[in-house]
Amino acid sequence: MKQNFDVLIAGAGFAGGVCARVLAEKGKQVLVAERRSHTGGNAYDCKDQAGVLIHQYGPHIFHTNDKKVFDFLSRFTKWRRYQHKVIANLPRDNPEVVPAHKTTNGRFFFPVPFNLDSLKNAFGAKEGDRLGKKLLDAYPAQSQVTILELRQNPDPEIAAIADYVYEHVFVHYTMKQWGQTPEEIDPNTTARVPVRLSTDDRYFQDAYQGMPLEGYTAMFERMLDHPNIQVRLNTDARPLMKDFPGTMIYTGQADELFGFKYGPLPYRTLDFQFETVQKDHFQAAGTVNYTVDEAYTRITEFKLLTGQALPGVTTIMKEYSRAYTGEPGEAPYYAIINPENNALYSKYQADARKIPNLHLLGRLAEYKYYNMDAIAARALALAEQL
Ligand code: FAD
Ligand code: UDP
Repeated sequence: MKQNFDVLIAGAGFAGGVCARVLAEKGKQVLVAERRSHTGGNAYDCKDQAGVLIHQYGPHIFHTNDKKVFDFLSRFTKWRRYQHKVIANLPRDNPEVVPAHKTTNGRFFFPVPFNLDSLKNAFGAKEGDRLGKKLLDAYPAQSQVTILELRQNPDPEIAAIADYVYEHVFVHYTMKQWGQTPEEIDPNTTARVPVRLSTDDRYFQDAYQGMPLEGYTAMFERMLDHPNIQVRLNTDARPLMKDFPGTMIYTGQADELFGFKYGPLPYRTLDFQFETVQKDHFQAAGTVNYTVDEAYTRITEFKLLTGQALPGVTTIMKEYSRAYTGEPGEAPYYAIINPENNALYSKYQADARKIPNLHLLGRLAEYKYYNMDAIAARALALAEQL
């Protein structure tokens, strides 16, 4: 490399972007190599042909309790105040019950995470109310309970609620998303979506929630706009990493970095089906989860997330999950966390540790299920440590 860089960063997503900015502000000369044609990693957004701001790699809603992360990102964007809400859309299997919420075309709806209002929708107002009180008595010190915890409860009525939620929220959706049951996957995954012992119908309860006012890509462009940062798009970092003398931060797949020598790390990938609809709006919430039927897991309507004012047209996206095969064009979206895969990852991690100037950072490089705020926090910590 002709130019002298102190730091080489592979990948321009949250992990790479945050590190680049902090190190550049500390006076380091930073080269960011990004294989894709854009920055932002999986949070990248852009306008589609209809002029709707879409998230190319799945819906991204920012939420955190970490003030440091929020303050850092707020240097590069203003925020649209937005609290994400999700509705389950499922076939109505109990016509005797009169749901409190809308029922149309043989389908019915309730808030996800399943909460005390969902209970009334499912069991009718009076019975739902009674069962809700029973749940509150059973878990007096908790604001929420995981589905796996609820399924352990020996009380027959609570067990019946647990069975209902398991069947109508978790088992089919999880089979679609992971190809495995809730018991077979990492318990932290279903714990992300608990059963709420309140009527709070927000998907996240974090103190700071919102959408970057002009989008994630605009935020990343500002973050990476610094005299000490050079970004090279459409550039695989791996050839540049050979013999690079300075600090290297690698945010791509750990297995790929080492030529898959111990075998590929398993991932789930997604197929996204975008549809443009000639209407102001398509659905009642930013995301609607198809928890029981349909081949897709969920439909997101981007205008409801971004607040974009664009009359007469809206874009929706259906998500289909399947095993990642490594074929060209596929992206490894979700690490499949389990002891066997973690052990395989540890082998790559051990190899990486033998290279003193190399740091693995990010959802791919660390083989973890990080949200954006979590990886931003780790990136801030690593950059400060360096
Ligand atoms: P990435 O965003 O994957 O960035 C890594 C970058 O490295 C990529 O751009 C890749 O092209 C590049 N790269 C890889 N290998 C190389 C190489 N050899 N050379 C050069 N470049 C390379 N989080 C939330 O907080 N809220 C949400 O609502 C949310 N929704 C999500 C929805 C979906 C469908 C998915 C998949 C994830 C979601 N996330 C969400 C998680 C979020 O996407 C991640 O936390 C975040 O993108 C991780 O950032 P990263 O930098 O680690 O990885
Ligand atoms: N989940 C479910 N039904 C739902 C929502 C979530 O079974 O309606 C489970 C499923 O296993 C999913 C996990 O909870 O993978 C985490 O959901 P989350 O919405 O956090 O997933 P992400 O947005 O990261 O895909």
